[in-house]
Amino acid sequence: MMSRSFQRLALAGALASAGLMFATGPAEAGNRPAKTVPVRLLSLNDFHGHLEPPTGSSGRLVDETGATVEAGGAAYIAAHMEQLTDSNTIKVAQGDLIGATPLISAAFHDEPSVEFLGKIGITTSAVGNHEFDEGYDELKRIMYGGCHPVDGCSPAGQWKGAKYDYIGANVILKRNTGGAEKDALAALGKNTGAIRGLLRQYGVPALPPVSIRWMNGVPVGFIGLVTRTTPNIVTAEGIKDLEFVDEVKAANVASKLLKLVGVRAQVVLVHEGDQVTPGQSPDACSAQPGAGNRIATQVDAEIDMILSGHSHQAYLCTVTDPKGGKRLYSQGGSFGRVITKVDFRVDTRTRDVVRSSVVADNQVVTRTVTPDPEISQFVQTWKDRVSTVANKPIGKITADIVNTAAPSGESPLGNLIADGQLAAAKNGGNAQIALMNPGGVRASLTYASSPAGEGDGVVTYGEAFTVQPFNNLLQVVTLTGAQLKTVLEQQFPGGPNNQAFTKILQPSSNFTYSYSASAPWGSKISDMKIDGVPVTDTQTIRVAANNFLVGGGDAFAAFTEGTDVWSGPLDIDAFAAHFAANPVIAPPVPDHITVTP
Ligand SMILES: [Zn+2]
Repeated sequence: MMSRSFQRLALAGALASAGLMFATGPAEAGNRPAKTVPVRLLSLNDFHGHLEPPTGSSGRLVDETGATVEAGGAAYIAAHMEQLTDSNTIKVAQGDLIGATPLISAAFHDEPSVEFLGKIGITTSAVGNHEFDEGYDELKRIMYGGCHPVDGCSPAGQWKGAKYDYIGANVILKRNTGGAEKDALAALGKNTGAIRGLLRQYGVPALPPVSIRWMNGVPVGFIGLVTRTTPNIVTAEGIKDLEFVDEVKAANVASKLLKLVGVRAQVVLVHEGDQVTPGQSPDACSAQPGAGNRIATQVDAEIDMILSGHSHQAYLCTVTDPKGGKRLYSQGGSFGRVITKVDFRVDTRTRDVVRSSVVADNQVVTRTVTPDPEISQFVQTWKDRVSTVANKPIGKITADIVNTAAPSGESPLGNLIADGQLAAAKNGGNAQIALMNPGGVRASLTYASSPAGEGDGVVTYGEAFTVQPFNNLLQVVTLTGAQLKTVLEQQFPGGPNNQAFTKILQPSSNFTYSYSASAPWGSKISDMKIDGVPVTDTQTIRVAANNFLVGGGDAFAAFTEGTDVWSGPLDIDAFAAHFAANPVIAPPVPDHITVTP
């Protein structure tokens, strides 16, 4: 269970920058005063390639005072990192640094982001699920270097590999994959009995499970973990040789390995986390005990703290370890808006963390500081380079396709995006219809030439990316006819989902229905048809939507009742593929929804 009771709250004011204090830990052994040395960790999670300052709600954050401030951007991260770095600092991360990234990073297989993170001194990162977006082989290329097998070298030349370690103790090679297990055991030699025993029990790691950094004469061991749900959220083909095993079990084996080689100061970097109450201070702990809390409370008591990720929330919690000790459980939001700073002391005799010395603080990456000039230049260089990709034509339109809603609430561009999503999710996901959130259609496609000067009607990749900039994953879930009806009712205010204002989901062209403007909530929707065939309450329907909606975003809670989730391509890739399949597209007529009085 989470407890904040041991926090020395009275000191919090005196130590203005301290977000969280660990007041009392286990008594030090012996009577002579222990000699301790300081260590500072600075950590990032879920950066998702936001080299340029993220815009909209992705670039805002509620700070410690309750004010909503603009935050994030590589040059600002670098400036804050510089300010927070002292001679005791080790910089680490908790995954999803790459994958689902903006075009400036995505267009170059995220090499610019990995290079940036190396430049600011990240030494070790857990892998996140998104590190596997392009598959295990591509992750290894990112880690160790080489040019992309299909797209070749980036404009910067041969990729030299990440300057930091990617670690993942619970990512295991499947048994019987080409003798890799035998090779790995053979490579250990003859005099490593204990480690061999552990490896046999545990499997052969597909990635380095741990990373050890020395600071002030003591070793600090980092254990990497990624959500075991990764196979449900990344493309199966890219990870077919991998198994994602229980995070707690893997952490405990890795902890034993570290202990075997004398590393007692142990930090888990885990790409899994929990949800908090919206708008809480980044230094508070309203986290709902979930998948992250399970790991944080259950991993071996030898582990001194758990820095987390994945849920894009900022929190500083304290949890109880299996032996009753207190330890930190933290996360630093997402998109580079927060740096988590953790200060602690390590006993030079026991080499262990003095738990009572742990002080954590989530630092908001404000844009009120002077951006780092070198990183600003670096980002500009990639901005210039991406303009070539951005200007690449992907198809043509016969007239403007606008995101302006018809009286029914649907728009021609919303229809077009849904049609593209349905096409992309038919094979693999068995999608029957698609629904797109209107807020995710960010701009219209215009027939006229863009400032880049391409011909009339030409749609460039950059223009498509401006329409669909979120890098959401396209997913498919099974809903019953009744659940689909509830989703549509949830478009309107007045229901238990507290929809703030009417948000009409953009339907694919093969899905039609009516809604009554005056009927009470719950009985507005009627006459649902797929390909002209009426939908019954009990039939099952495979519905394609982005992962934001499938997760219940925009108050569409009924989506979370969906089952058999399939994850497909990024939404922008589905959109571009639709143009590739239909090189000249006329604006769809937004006539799939009938409004009755
Ligand atoms: Zn994640």
